[in-house]
Amino acid sequence: MSIPFDRNFDAPYEQLIDVAPRIRRLLTNNPGPFTFKGTGVAVIGRGHVAVIDPGPDDPLHLDALREALKGETVTHILVTHTHRDHSPAARALKAWTGARIYGFGPHGAGKAEQGIAVEESGDMEFAADVRVRDGDIIEGNGFVFECVHTPGHTSNHICYALKEEKALFCGDHVMGWSTTVVAPPDGDMGDYLASLRKLLARDDRIYWPTHGGPIRDPQSFVAAYLAHRLERENQIISALKDGLTAIPAMVDRIYAGLDPRLKPAAGLSVLSHLLLLLKQGRVAAEGELGLRGRFRLV
Ligand SMILES: [Zn+2]
Repeated sequence: MSIPFDRNFDAPYEQLIDVAPRIRRLLTNNPGPFTFKGTGVAVIGRGHVAVIDPGPDDPLHLDALREALKGETVTHILVTHTHRDHSPAARALKAWTGARIYGFGPHGAGKAEQGIAVEESGDMEFAADVRVRDGDIIEGNGFVFECVHTPGHTSNHICYALKEEKALFCGDHVMGWSTTVVAPPDGDMGDYLASLRKLLARDDRIYWPTHGGPIRDPQSFVAAYLAHRLERENQIISALKDGLTAIPAMVDRIYAGLDPRLKPAAGLSVLSHLLLLLKQGRVAAEGELGLRGRFRLV
């Protein structure tokens, strides 16, 4: 079962574009292998607006965002997670507007409580004025959001469901153009799969990922996403059965033909599957529990 990816999305950079009655988006000029065409900043409402994932701390982007929001009163700044292409612009936006920043918590929140330190490549300065939890409601002037905690891509990843449009702003949890990076230690495959199943049980009508275009048949898309992860797990198990013990060898076999820039991420993804299998008692490890570890079936 292949995932019905759509890579046709395009939009002019740094301009606010209408995409639905209550939704506008501004595409940041930061394309790349992990950001696709760039960060899609969402602006919800008219007159009094919420901004979701304001984007990177880049002076040209900040200027464009400020210009685009002229004439609007920003009342809420919502952040799905603390990667540098999503959250850093929240601070400048807060400084101009006085709006409060909503998010699950600082980078690593959700793992820090378990004594697990996460990599420092995230937005370590992020601070939410309002720390939201699963099921929390955020009300604005003309819009209501429900918070849906979806750890996995990061432990503090949270989606925002716009009730009026049954639209889920799903950050990097589900993307229409690619699978999501699940990189330990902050990324966690067990959490990720549970967070996908959580979405299957909901009745959102459309997803707006932060990168790329919308997903208009979300439940079947998520089912395909889940099937893909299960297929990856099976590929890893058969590699282990064939005597492969090292992650780079598994990556070469499973991801033949992959863009070399994405190989390190693929290695981390394989590691995240192995850590889940280890937790389930299906795999044993030798040496460090990292990219250089050795793994075998139990
Ligand atoms: Zn991310």
